[in-house]
Amino acid sequence: MSKNWYPVINYSKCNNCGKCVENCNFGVYDKDQYPKPEVINIEGCIEGCNGCANLCPNGAIKYRDTRESGYCGPGCSCKGGCC
Ligand code: SF4
Ligand code: SF4
Repeated sequence: MSKNWYPVINYSKCNNCGKCVENCNFGVYDKDQYPKPEVINIEGCIEGCNGCANLCPNGAIKYRDTRESGYCGPGCSCKGGCC
């Protein structure tokens, strides 16, 4: 579990296919918002897991490692654009 590694969605590339929301079993995404990916639990994400990015057909998911690149996450107004 990590606060340092979590998905950041680039909504300009995302087409709401829902694959990331469906396939993460760690409560990182809000299943109630399916198929839209809403990251609600960054601490649930497994450091080094690339599962949802590997499934994404549009390259819309990157990971933020706060130790190396500063804070970005839920609430950040960039919506993934600065990542
Ligand atoms: S990287 Fe893995 S644990 Fe983290 S949100 Fe994606 S599928 Fe879930
Ligand atoms: S897998 Fe990619 S395109 Fe599909 S909902 Fe998730 S971020 Fe969007």
